[in-house]
Amino acid sequence: MELDELLKKLEKKEIDFNKLESYLNPNEAALLRRLFIEKNSGKSLSSIGSTIIDFKDVYGKNIENPIGATQIPLGVAGPININGNYAKGSFYVPLATTEGALVASVNRGIKAVNASGGVNVIIIHDSMTRAPVFSLPSISYCKLFINWINENFSKIKEVAESTTKYGKLKSIDTFVTGNNVWLRFSFSTGDAMGMNMVTLAVEKACEYIEKGFPEAKCIAVSGNMCSDKKLSYVNTLLGRGKTVIAEAILPGKIVKEFLKSRAEEIVETNLRKNWLGSARAGSPQFNAHFANIITAIFIATGQDVAQVIESSSGYTWAEVREDNLYFSVTLPSLEVGTVGGGTQLPTQSEALNLLEVKGSGNPPGSNSLKFAEIIAATVLAGELNLLAAITSRELGKAHMKYGRKMNV
Ligand code: NAP
Repeated sequence: MELDELLKKLEKKEIDFNKLESYLNPNEAALLRRLFIEKNSGKSLSSIGSTIIDFKDVYGKNIENPIGATQIPLGVAGPININGNYAKGSFYVPLATTEGALVASVNRGIKAVNASGGVNVIIIHDSMTRAPVFSLPSISYCKLFINWINENFSKIKEVAESTTKYGKLKSIDTFVTGNNVWLRFSFSTGDAMGMNMVTLAVEKACEYIEKGFPEAKCIAVSGNMCSDKKLSYVNTLLGRGKTVIAEAILPGKIVKEFLKSRAEEIVETNLRKNWLGSARAGSPQFNAHFANIITAIFIATGQDVAQVIESSSGYTWAEVREDNLYFSVTLPSLEVGTVGGGTQLPTQSEALNLLEVKGSGNPPGSNSLKFAEIIAATVLAGELNLLAAITSRELGKAHMKYGRKMNV
């Protein structure tokens, strides 16, 4: 069918808007959908329509009803010197943002940590979780159910792992409230962030569990104890994705020269702002702006941006050591992947390639671990710089200079 003919059918509602791919290839379908909306709304969407994305590659994987793409400026910070178990060396870090001053802020932090010997990083936990909730007839069944799960762990593992080559079930943590039981499954997921992988595996495991213990009824494959795209204490306590810690020790003269601050001032600001201020506000996020850096890297590299919520929860710690500043950031639930999701999109895969973490690692899993280390080191640099800028009262000025094109 010709485009004109299909457009008329769309207008007469003889064809469903979301069924265009049955008649056209995904690129033509996206174009027709956009033309239809432009015609009916009287609004030009020409910028949205200008994209290098080939919808043949993303339709059925990343988007439904496509009409084009959103573009976000991409800056680069670094190179940052990292001494991790997986990330070793210097890395230019891509940051996609519309917040003027963010890249400059991270960059100044990087200069200070580089001049101090770089950033040390370690990963202490790595797993992706799904926690289905089961209802039981009474509380006595809860105990029997948990015993049954523990006794049948090997078989549950075998069933769950039958759906994936890379997902490996590490543990099942149990939680009870009334006659409800949550099973928090934790998997290693190779280089994938793992949410689809783990959900498929847990669905299969739940079918097996319901057959083996018929009194247990799976109410939801995600019972919110996972906890995906929601702020939670369970993730900060037990970890989700990668639990990463980064540290740097900065000589006092570097803090003064590069950051216009002093170790004592940064420590005091961290305590009164990040710890006391967050406690007083009832916020479990004891940091200044992890979300800024994580969001910008997530957008640049095709991560699931909604997971910034839990990925940016974490803690900033600072100490004065003689004349030096000891500075560290802890990210308990950094959820990232270098395969799957949006990582294969054109600009996103180039950004991962720039970091030398694109695709499957050798051994599998090593690319996503390296990527997590790079993110944590960059978060440290950005966090350090913001705290320093606050102590030297430069925050507003920096945003005027970089965010409003003003000479300050
Ligand atoms: P995915 O693209 O669904 O799956 C990853 C695929 O890559 C799997 O088929 C896996 O093989 C394969 N793979 C190849 N090399 C690999 C390697 N080295 N390491 C790991 N896997 C490798 O990605 P995902 O990470 O599981 O899920 C991410 C997507 O889930 C995102 O698009 C996100 O937005 C979405 N999401 C889903 C849910 C949900 O509830 N389902 C929730 C939140 C987000 P195998 O098939 O053998 O495993």
